[in-house]
Amino acid sequence: MVDDCIFCQILKEQAPCYAVHETRYTKTFLDIFPASPGHCLIVTKDHYRDIFDATPEAISMVGHVSTLIAHTVKQELQCDGVGVFQLNGAAAGQTVFHYHMHVIPCHDGQELTIHSRSQGDPDDLQAMAQRLQACAAAMHADED
Ligand code: 5GP
Ligand code: ZN
Repeated sequence: MVDDCIFCQILKEQAPCYAVHETRYTKTFLDIFPASPGHCLIVTKDHYRDIFDATPEAISMVGHVSTLIAHTVKQELQCDGVGVFQLNGAAAGQTVFHYHMHVIPCHDGQELTIHSRSQGDPDDLQAMAQRLQACAAAMHADED
């Protein structure tokens, strides 16, 4: 864990978290600056800076959960597409240096972005997290 890392602070419950899903190795929560409603971040529970620092096992777990979350947002939000993105290094646009995957619901006609400047409304984020959490739990139950 890294003290000045916002995702480590979220994992330690020292910063607000709109939680969607959790495994032993990953936590999924809403991006508080959503590129579109339902924008999720899947983060490793251990602190890795980026794809070059993370273990193959951690990367594989994030990939597995990304698939589940992509299905979740598609089903719950009835979006037309889903962006699954991951940035490594400032040159690539990474802004939080703790390995994570973006899962972004996309709609026809919507311009695709990863970063947004406007913060989501806390009540909207809470309501969205609850919807996606319930849907992810139901899909996960189907998987078992
Ligand atoms: P990156 O640019 O590193 O690929 O993505 C980092 C993401 O973290 C950005 O989309 C940004 O909106 C999001 N972010 C920054 N600070 C916080 C925060 O405090 N909480 C949450 N949930 N997301 C954050
Ligand atoms: Zn961290």
